Amino acid sequence: MKYISTRGRAPACSVTHAVLQGIAGDGGLYVPEEFPAMDFDWEALAACSYEQVALRVLASFMPEFEPEELASCLRGAYGGTFEHPQVAPLVRAGDVHFLELFHGRTAAFKDMALSLLPYLLTASIRKENEQKKIAIFAATSGDTGIAALKGFEDVTGTEIFVFFPEHGVSAVQKQQMRTAGGNNTHVFGIEGNFDDAQHGVKQMLNDARFNEQADENGYRLTAANSINIGRLLPQIVYYVWAYALLVKSGAVRAGEPMNIAVPSGNFGNILAGYYAEQIGVPIKNKICASNRNRVLADFFATGTYDARRPLYVTNAPSMDILVSSNLERLLFLASGCDGAKVAGWMDALSSEGRYEVDDAARQRLHSFSGGFAEERAIEAAIGSVFAEHGYVMDTHTSAAYNVYREYVQRTGDDTPTVITATASPYKFAESVGRALGLAEASDAFDALDALAAKSGSPVPDGLKGLRERPVRHAETAQPEDMAVTVMGLLAGLQSNSSK
Ligand SMILES: *Cc1c(COP(=O)(O)O)cnc(C)c1O
Repeated sequence: MKYISTRGRAPACSVTHAVLQGIAGDGGLYVPEEFPAMDFDWEALAACSYEQVALRVLASFMPEFEPEELASCLRGAYGGTFEHPQVAPLVRAGDVHFLELFHGRTAAFKDMALSLLPYLLTASIRKENEQKKIAIFAATSGDTGIAALKGFEDVTGTEIFVFFPEHGVSAVQKQQMRTAGGNNTHVFGIEGNFDDAQHGVKQMLNDARFNEQADENGYRLTAANSINIGRLLPQIVYYVWAYALLVKSGAVRAGEPMNIAVPSGNFGNILAGYYAEQIGVPIKNKICASNRNRVLADFFATGTYDARRPLYVTNAPSMDILVSSNLERLLFLASGCDGAKVAGWMDALSSEGRYEVDDAARQRLHSFSGGFAEERAIEAAIGSVFAEHGYVMDTHTSAAYNVYREYVQRTGDDTPTVITATASPYKFAESVGRALGLAEASDAFDALDALAAKSGSPVPDGLKGLRERPVRHAETAQPEDMAVTVMGLLAGLQSNSSK
């Protein structure tokens, strides 16, 4: 199994190289050269643990890993760090199924991949015989940051740098990142939005001079964002798992299709669903939900991706994104694996802020459907689903729920549908509390307690005592200063370690 670049101008490589590299040398993203056809026995899978399903799925994507080695990585990632014994339970509320992906250490679905990535990365360092230390960058719209900090906290041979929009994350998200532990963690509030932060990260990774300087300081650079294929592969697993659970629940018979509805930002989560379909999970339609930042919804409606628009800060901030990186991986498949074509679209995006795909590509995307939910609709659905089913959705999950409802109304498609629940409602306690009619809390931390009292479910361990934790990271930076700031730190770390 080799990995190739979406832009077709970088050599094929092993998964370990791709994980260490983060982004391909031609600026493209690594994708599997082909998808292994897996002959799933759904009844048997339904009796397996999450770790066992993960082993089955990931082994064929990572032939460089011995089964025992991979199993041990998976045990480290999922054994004991998730609050739910099933890791990702499937919860039914009325006629929809919520796949709860938020029971990890930081209460959002980013833990599903970022609990495993440090194990994959350290194994890759060993296998690639990499002598340098690894500096890992993560731009975050809120949830990747803390999940990456937790995952890489004090992992030997690594330094982790997180960049979040200073004025674009929830109070809980910000406090999580600013109080992160570890002696190798560096966190910056960026005076800009997520796109600025992600752009800065991609620039550092792609800049030859910057890489040389890092090298002179003893560092190799990579990314913990979903541009890293090591983030995406672990996410394929939970779609296999969800389908097995759906079969087990009797909602579908083995082989019958399911739809998925996914709150989307950087497009990693829903793309992993499409990858799961490629290896044999019976997924029919993929419903891509946005918030008011509806660039993806417009793309699926028109075939034109147009990032020239204002970015709004919404109550679903992890989806406040205009440049959705993983769409590039979907376009690669939609173009018939034509790297030159993808490179052309991406060049147009960076020079003109837009691109338009051709009819053949649009045809291949017909099983995707986009939609968006405004803030008021997001809060209204949180209230009505709680009133009807006693189930509390977070704001992102509610966006997907809204878009799913509209989709059903428009199409009449009654295929059983799994909605990925991407965050604990506690992460967005103020918005969720307001949606449930709770009195305005004095701050986000009081809102946590009020929400617990109303919903009857406990505050997740990862969010307990958040207010009292000491702030360790309060630095801010301008987007254009990211590279200088990072290099200054790397040079300092180097001179400290050589003393
Ligand atoms: C990251 C995130 C999303 C968006 O996921 P992508 O993989 O970037 O599309 C949605 N909801 C929550 C809560 C998130 O943290």
